[in-house]
Amino acid sequence: MENWETVVVETDLLICGGGMSACGAAVEAAYWAKKNGLKVTLVDKAVPTRSGAVAMGLSAINEYIGYSKGENTCEDYIRYVRQDLMGIARDDLVFNIARHVDSSVHLFEKWGLPIWTDENGKYVREGRWQVMINGESYKVIVAEAALNAMNEAGFEVYERVFICGPIMDGDRVAGAFGFSTRENKFYVFKAKAVCAQMGGAVHVFRPRSVGEGLGRSWYPPFNSGSTAYFTIQAGAEMTCQEIRFIPVRFKDAYGPVGAWFLLFKSRATSAEGGEYMAVRKDELNNWAPYGLVKPIPANLRNYLGMLDTDAGLGPLYMETAEAIQKLADEYKDDPKAFKKKMKVLESEAWEDFLDMTVSQAILWAAHNIYPEQKRSEIAACEPYFIGSHSGGSGAWVSGPEDLDTPYKWGVGDKVYGNMTTVKGLFTAGDGSGASSHKFSSGSHAEGRWAGKQAIRFILDNNEAPNISDDMIAELKEKCFAPMKRFEEFKGFTTDPNINPNYIRPMQFMFRLQKIMDEYAGGVSAAFKTSKALLERGLELLDMLKEDAEKLAAENAYELERCWENVHRMWQAEAHVRTMLFREETRWPGYYFRADTPKMDEDNWRVFVNCTYKDGEWVFEKKEVHHLVD
Ligand SMILES: Cc1cc2nc3c(=O)[nH]c(=O)nc-3n(C[C@H](O)[C@H](O)[C@H](O)COP(=O)(O)OP(=O)(O)OC[C@H]3O[C@@H](n4cnc5c(N)ncnc54)[C@H](O)[C@@H]3O)c2cc1C
Repeated sequence: MENWETVVVETDLLICGGGMSACGAAVEAAYWAKKNGLKVTLVDKAVPTRSGAVAMGLSAINEYIGYSKGENTCEDYIRYVRQDLMGIARDDLVFNIARHVDSSVHLFEKWGLPIWTDENGKYVREGRWQVMINGESYKVIVAEAALNAMNEAGFEVYERVFICGPIMDGDRVAGAFGFSTRENKFYVFKAKAVCAQMGGAVHVFRPRSVGEGLGRSWYPPFNSGSTAYFTIQAGAEMTCQEIRFIPVRFKDAYGPVGAWFLLFKSRATSAEGGEYMAVRKDELNNWAPYGLVKPIPANLRNYLGMLDTDAGLGPLYMETAEAIQKLADEYKDDPKAFKKKMKVLESEAWEDFLDMTVSQAILWAAHNIYPEQKRSEIAACEPYFIGSHSGGSGAWVSGPEDLDTPYKWGVGDKVYGNMTTVKGLFTAGDGSGASSHKFSSGSHAEGRWAGKQAIRFILDNNEAPNISDDMIAELKEKCFAPMKRFEEFKGFTTDPNINPNYIRPMQFMFRLQKIMDEYAGGVSAAFKTSKALLERGLELLDMLKEDAEKLAAENAYELERCWENVHRMWQAEAHVRTMLFREETRWPGYYFRADTPKMDEDNWRVFVNCTYKDGEWVFEKKEVHHLVD
């Protein structure tokens, strides 16, 4: 620890993370900060040009309203999101993102992102809300704009610095601490406001891919619950911690299905060929009103497939060959045109994977799958925490000032949009809850909003935080405790992996994942859980928490893994406790509470919020307020 230099960075606004929402925050905050003589600092555990969920690229932008072109309204988007989340969404936040999202998409295009257009110059839509892109370099383009804005304003960006947690000064956030994963440097960032935007969480649950495929998942492995940990530890009120997301994707390489369902109009079937969405249609009555309105919520679509799997009708398949044939059929009387169309469709099918999930293309090649000839297996993935996609978990943040919403707060009579319940702590993207379906574009737009609001907050509350030298010394001790422990005890046994004095991060992660998988409704429990299972899971999580004090790290790489697992563990606990609190099943297909198997609109059409304060979790229900019917 003596070898680790302490670096103290003083700034006005600290942006933690370098993903879609953080890049949005940086672009906007850099502009307003420079104008007002303030300083912004951005810190990413990786390198923003290839970090976060969009690192590998995407094939579609999933939220584009087309408002100025008269294509859709923001009110329609509210209805769509609320319907998909079985009634549980913050209209105010969804509306606020929707009214800003198109401008983010137009900026992406201006910065160089190729968006597909038709012969009339109109964006090609994959579905009602999505636009198709050549997105291999999507993140590079968006990050470059953010980095340029930061550089031009003379602000600093710290790459490969892992943020461990918040620093508090009484009831306000005062910054963050972390360490460099490449140099022996311990960082203390002192800030007047913080945007905590470090994405969602993966590998909280045991993934399907173990052994030879260990680490593969739909959600990229880079995000490990750091935003949730940061906000929980700062004392922020959290919401929708029970709403995990389980996508159904091409099996084992997790290739996207959106283009297949929306663009290719493909069917998903059981091994016997029955289309579960049609065969099991009656089940949707049990989930009225949401089950009876189109589009059917993603969790219900999952659920119908899961019923087939439970009935032994698996594997499930995407009927790729049938879909391609159907699309080419209109050219069947012209062999040359037919051949040409088949070639285009075939290349679009591969391109979809090459844009964002190269490994799926590799798996298809390895399994001799020609999508135009043979159907391909799909399956429900393990659960993830991604409030910006179809999950809902995140912090409870203030709505915008101009909307008629009961959820507005700030300091005195000033409202600061996207501020958590902690003074000066803002979040967006996966970090803010109950506002799903923002995706990449909406996360960027929300990040821009949060960045601008944070600068407003600083201008009104321009006081330097108080962080004592003693506190810095304490945080440094805490940060490096796993390395100290390893050094102290490594000689105790001949095999460094087996030691009664410590636990290494990989073993710790396996233990967490086993608890979550078996007790909290993971893949091997067929996504089912119950009060008794959750209570037993909590007992085991409690013991895991005790052992978190025994984590050991041989080097900086392992130190990062230790902290990632601590972050995951807190996300896990918030999830288990919230599922326990909500005594109903509202999102079958995401999780099923076997002891309360029905939806209860009278008692549970509410947000469940939790706060961790003075060592205790406090839970409460919050009313769902509508801006539109
Ligand atoms: C597999 C997949 C497919 C998707 N497909 C689409 C799609 O087709 N279209 C679409 O529009 N959207 C899609 N999305 C959604 C989109 O990627 C997210 O909505 C968006 O990236 C969320 O932005 P964010 O800023 O919250 O998180 P991210 O973009 O994931 O950024 C998180 C950032 O935090 C950093 N970070 C994490 N932990 C720390 C730490 N401890 N210290 C410092 N930095 C840290 C990371 O390095 C990263 O830079 C997809 C998401 C996934 C996972």
